This record gives sequence, structure tokens and C-alpha cells, in this order.
Amino acid sequence: MTMREGNCNCGRVRYRLRGEPKRIGICHCTDCRQESGSAFTYYGVWDAAAFETTGETALHEGRRFCPACGSRVFAVDEREAEVKLGTLQDAPTGLTPTYELWIKRREPWLPPVKGADQFLEDRID
Ligand SMILES: [Zn+2]
Ligand SMILES: [Zn+2]
Repeated sequence: MTMREGNCNCGRVRYRLRGEPKRIGICHCTDCRQESGSAFTYYGVWDAAAFETTGETALHEGRRFCPACGSRVFAVDEREAEVKLGTLQDAPTGLTPTYELWIKRREPWLPPVKGADQFLEDRID
């Protein structure tokens, strides 16, 4: 089974993921821009049971980050773990987005990801 590891920028927060993600997304919404400081977020979703982490994190509106270096690392509840894929140790990750959210906020210089479902705002199941 595929194992992936990641960490915050300073290495105090670490995590491990078992198996492939259930879905891989990009989000261009205003919240994602502001919390990441970038034009979009890039994340993968695994079952919570496939995710384990060590190191102290701080919490803001469900999103966990390293209190020492400020890296946004993941959000986890009893069901799912949503991991910021830029924190994986190996880059490129080999994980291609399966969907894009809030494309109405996407920068015009950024092309859509080929083959990814496109949603004007939030995902509709
Ligand atoms: Zn850190
Ligand atoms: Zn968003």
C-alpha cells in the first residue's frame, strides 16, 4: 500500500497517510486564498483512519497549522482528513486534482486542470 509522509516547514508537525486519496481538489475561494496566502489551495482527502499525525498544532476554523512556523498542514474530523498537498515530503506529488472549486475566483492566467470537474462555487455531490 502507498504510504506518504509530510510535515510543516519547521518539521515539528508530521503526518503519515496510508493508501490513495478519495479525492484531490483545488479551491480558488476567498477563504482559501486568505488562509494560504496564495491564489488557491491544493489538497487531498483521505479517510480519517488512514491518517496519523504527531506534533502540536493550533486550530483556526477547523484548519490545523504549526504554531511555530505557521504552515497550514491539515484539517481532520472523525470522518475525513483534508491534507494540504504542498506539505508532502516528495514533490512533485504525482497527485492530479480531480476537481476545482470556486473557479469564478480563479486567476485568469491559470488554466483549468485537464480532466478535473469544474465547479463555479462549492462542490455538488
Ligand atoms: Zn512548523
Ligand atoms: Zn476554498
